[in-house]
Amino acid sequence: MTACEHIESIDLEVRPSADGCEDCLRTGGDWVHLRVCQQCGHVGCCDSSPNRHATEHHRHTDHPPLPSGTTSVSGGGACSRPS
Ligand SMILES: [Zn+2]
Ligand SMILES: [Zn+2]
Repeated sequence: MTACEHIESIDLEVRPSADGCEDCLRTGGDWVHLRVCQQCGHVGCCDSSPNRHATEHHRHTDHPPLPSGTTSVSGGGACSRPS
């Protein structure tokens, strides 16, 4: 069994607030990968996604962005970082 070491390496202190990008779910948008804000649990889509809601969230809130390459929502191919 191969565990996703990327997920295990993250100290998750907040629970994701949604199963997908909150803003994309609201607007019916698409995302490539998801990022969970470690400060408030906001789920947003990464910079490879058309709408880049995670970046937008951090810009609006001053919450610290995740280190690049980390994704922490399981399912839907969230962990596809080449090793
Ligand atoms: Zn989004
Ligand atoms: Zn946040």
